[in-house]
Amino acid sequence: MNHFGGLGICGSEKPKKDCGEFELVHKESFEIDHTDKIELRGNFPVRVLGGSILVFLKNIIENHLEKVQHELDSLKNQGKMNFIANKERVQIVAEIDKNGISIYENYCQFLWSLPYSLISINDECFKKPMLNKSFKGQLERNVFFHKGIYSFNFGVNLTKAFSLFPSFVLPNPLKYDIVDQYYIEKANSIFSSGMAFSILHELGHLYYCHLDAQKMLKQHEHDADEYALSMILAAPLDKVHLESYKYGALISLLSIIFIDDSLSGGEEHPHPIDRIRFLLEQMKLDDQNDLWGMAALGFALWGQYYRKDYGFPKEMETFKELFEYIGKRVDDHLVYGNL
Ligand SMILES: [Zn+2]
Repeated sequence: MNHFGGLGICGSEKPKKDCGEFELVHKESFEIDHTDKIELRGNFPVRVLGGSILVFLKNIIENHLEKVQHELDSLKNQGKMNFIANKERVQIVAEIDKNGISIYENYCQFLWSLPYSLISINDECFKKPMLNKSFKGQLERNVFFHKGIYSFNFGVNLTKAFSLFPSFVLPNPLKYDIVDQYYIEKANSIFSSGMAFSILHELGHLYYCHLDAQKMLKQHEHDADEYALSMILAAPLDKVHLESYKYGALISLLSIIFIDDSLSGGEEHPHPIDRIRFLLEQMKLDDQNDLWGMAALGFALWGQYYRKDYGFPKEMETFKELFEYIGKRVDDHLVYGNL
């Protein structure tokens, strides 16, 4: 099980907003509308992706059936997925017990907001200015920044309190304008990959019989992460899909940092920075790979949300260097309680 509980989520933490001059404007028409495709009941637009999560999971599992059959057989309903839509704040990522695999709609909506905001902000406010040599150590505050931050704030606020989806003007996978299609569809694919990673991680706990252990150990989490990633890396995926699964694995682990201002994994889990370092190292990325930059940006957005002074270095050669810079500051935060 992978509960958020025990990590000291602060229920009274006030949602914070920093959206500059960007205004949400009501619109009457949407060029892309998937409302007729919803199979699942729920509260959030993300439920339209329920089927997509299964497809992304099956893509991996089908190549390892002999490895996972025993685990799936041990579940009463053979790995059928329960999709739980409650009106509570996010508390659970995914669970496996005798009733099968359960995933939670509130967590899904929160998770979806991460790739949407990270990819659009990374591309439009960080990478493009950096490649143009116009980056000044601060994210460029253009329209993508504001849409991304709105989406991000709504998602992260769900870890503090339940609230209804405010309006379809906020980027979402159910109804959207064609101008938002590129980043929304990218987010859909990374989100579905991320949920597949979370479920594979849970299967990893089953595979190693961690649920029978008297105490969950930090090593169990690394083992389950490695199990999930090795299944992905061994699957015959084309380049585009493999990238999506790698991003998915990253956002699945990144999601953990946003639930509070500690950056800590609590008593039972390793620190998220250590899990993310381990994951990215296993992927054998080159130093200029976007995933390093995305991971660094994730921690920077955490800093923005929790009002911790983070900041980027004004100059850096590679995305890996940026990640290492941020990682060092996270380590200091964990040791000294500040950045
Ligand atoms: Zn776990």
